[in-house]
Amino acid sequence: MPVVVQKFGGTSVGDADRIRAVADHIARTRREGIDVVAVVSAMGKTTDDLIRLADSVSSIQPPREYDMLVSTGERISMSLLCMALAELGVDAASFTGSQVGIITDNDHSRAKILEVKADRLREALAAGRVPVVAGFQGVSIDREITTLGRGGSDATAVALAAVLGADACEIYTDVTGVFTADPRVVPAAHRINRISFEEMLEIAATGGRVLMLRAVEFARNHNVPLHVRSSFTWEPGTWVVEEDADMEEAVVTAVTHDTSEAKVTVSALPDHPGVAAKLFRAQADRSINIDMIVQNASANGTTDISFTVPKTDLGVSVETARATAEELGAKGVTSDSDVARVSLIGVGMKSHPGIAATMFETLAREEINIDMISTSTIRTSCIVRTADVERAVRSLHAAFELG
Ligand code: ADP
Ligand code: ASP
Ligand code: MG
Repeated sequence: MPVVVQKFGGTSVGDADRIRAVADHIARTRREGIDVVAVVSAMGKTTDDLIRLADSVSSIQPPREYDMLVSTGERISMSLLCMALAELGVDAASFTGSQVGIITDNDHSRAKILEVKADRLREALAAGRVPVVAGFQGVSIDREITTLGRGGSDATAVALAAVLGADACEIYTDVTGVFTADPRVVPAAHRINRISFEEMLEIAATGGRVLMLRAVEFARNHNVPLHVRSSFTWEPGTWVVEEDADMEEAVVTAVTHDTSEAKVTVSALPDHPGVAAKLFRAQADRSINIDMIVQNASANGTTDISFTVPKTDLGVSVETARATAEELGAKGVTSDSDVARVSLIGVGMKSHPGIAATMFETLAREEINIDMISTSTIRTSCIVRTADVERAVRSLHAAFELG
């Protein structure tokens, strides 16, 4: 029997009616002769609420306790979904990440999946039962409950699809697929029917939160076809697959934006070998993910280095950079949270000169100042003021005729 993993995001299980609608869909899929493994997120904004609750209780949140808390949201939805399935006469059983053997490293709140045992899933499927798995969580090699980072239910779904050799991993959400820009910001954005893992990776890495970056990486590495679609209309959505000849040959595929990063600047660093190495080794040792890096031309034997980091890591990053700056005799460290990144994504960029120039001209026409620029073979990103970013996305979407 074919097997699909069906993952339902927060809005898709946001209230009792939504949970019953999801149960209906699972029952329908089973009637079509397809085995289903369901993965659920926490209902609505439950995870945000739990994080706020923790913040209101204490500024000290031991990582183990943080994960113990935020992993509970998914347990609510998994058990409710099983009850809704029971009412439809579908035999189902809920499982936590730990119960299905999702083994992770010890890095609380952003743990990496190391291994998936899935014995209990196979047993449940063999018994004709629908396993409903709590997304976003696992158990560490030290036997502690861990979570996989925000949006982590996508990673759970892909990992289970890979280990079961599922025919597809369906990601049900509140939009009908992957769009040429966030449809909430650009009403003219259109759905992309098929997209390559490479482009989807760049979209996910630059703020298109419809799929979690790590989930896309995992899907590409294990060649798990992803189908992103709506749990409101149930219509076919976007297939994320290996690049093939049927794909649209667009030069630019999507415009993305991200307001989750901040900029750190270390000024007047001595300009000699080993300085950048020291600065970024110290950041890496604190598990900080650096995105863009810009070093200014040297003047009077010193140079400035700016880089971007997730806002959630800003405090630790600045503190670490200050220590390095002092050690190296730099002038000081400043930070700026009022920045956002706008990016153009497209495999066609490799072979079409002038894309970056058109991007800068478009932003210039809108009088949007560019603070930092970075490029890869299939992406160009600019850091701009937060207040300008949505206008930047809309004007670029129009300039590259993506509507
Ligand atoms: P879920 O809770 O189902 O995981 P998310 O909120 O994580 O849903 O992701 C879906 C949201 O991603 C959409 O509501 C949409 O606003 C946003 N989004 C951002 N960029 C894109 C894009 N390029 N295509 C589709 N959705 C996007
Ligand atoms: N509930 C978790 C979050 O809000 C995981 C997820 O939704 O994928 O980040
Ligand atoms: Mg999500």
